[in-house]
Amino acid sequence: MRALVFRGPGKIALEEVDDPIPSPGEVLLQVDAAGVCGTDRHIVAGELGVPSGTVPGHEIAGTITRIGSEVDGWESGDRVACFGQVTCGSCSACLAGASNRCRRPAVLGMARQGGFAERIALPQACLIRLPDSVASPVGAIASDAIATPLHALWTVGGLRAGETVVVVGAGGLGLHAIQLARLAGAACVVAVDPSEPARKAALVAGADAVLDPEAEDDPGRALRRLAPGAGLALECVGKSETVELGLSALAAGGRLVIVGVGAARPSLPPLARFIGAELSVHGSFGSTRAEIDTVLDLIERGRLDVSRSVQREVPLEEAASIFFEPVGPARTVILPQTQES
Ligand SMILES: [Zn+2]
Ligand SMILES: [Zn+2]
Repeated sequence: MRALVFRGPGKIALEEVDDPIPSPGEVLLQVDAAGVCGTDRHIVAGELGVPSGTVPGHEIAGTITRIGSEVDGWESGDRVACFGQVTCGSCSACLAGASNRCRRPAVLGMARQGGFAERIALPQACLIRLPDSVASPVGAIASDAIATPLHALWTVGGLRAGETVVVVGAGGLGLHAIQLARLAGAACVVAVDPSEPARKAALVAGADAVLDPEAEDDPGRALRRLAPGAGLALECVGKSETVELGLSALAAGGRLVIVGVGAARPSLPPLARFIGAELSVHGSFGSTRAEIDTVLDLIERGRLDVSRSVQREVPLEEAASIFFEPVGPARTVILPQTQES
């Protein structure tokens, strides 16, 4: 079969590789759509230490084409979205239902072969039934670009109706975060992004106001003016200055949740303020399977507008170059079953 294979920093190529064979407890999926996440760009840039020979891609929707032994409840032809990591199922986090914090995880496209391929073998524990009304490109990104901000805002951040929410970084995660904040009853949502297309997309997604931090001498002050009394800030970028900006927006009792990944070492506000105002900072990683089910349910019922969530669809043979192109506000999705015309 054909797959996009990572071959060291800055190198990814379309190659002919062996077809995967499902082990006991696994199914073979035809990959219908695979979302390109910021993490994939970091992998291709060589920043995450992923070994050469890995097929990236952890946002996957597909159709079951073969059932391995010891698989129950699934049939050939079932359409599925996929949980982005293979979890052990037996550590304390898995047993507590926090599968996103599994102690022995194998993230798809990093520790095991991912979805930028025509086919993939996956354990049945990764499969999430895809409603008929949800198109494959949307099903693919639901598992990460939508479920990750849902987990961060609703579960980790404890968003309460009537709160003011700040979203720093209006890319794939941030644009869905704006919708999810409104859906949970936020009184006001303010988005921050230096890119004009991203700020425009944020307003269309439902932000009440947007801020260009590069146009301000004191972006923290400008943000507090636009989002007075902010109780929750979500950081989707992973840089020190954006973490610190999110923290500076918070009123007393406020929580900052960070989903942006990186090697940054941001600093806290002076302790007198941090402690006196009872601010808190949380990391948030991925989501649980149950939260992906929630996202698919919200999409199926029309509670989330996903009509602008995918900006571009490309066949596998055109996909190698997209890792080196500028990132737009919405997701690019690879369609491995589409032949180049
Ligand atoms: Zn991702
Ligand atoms: Zn586990």
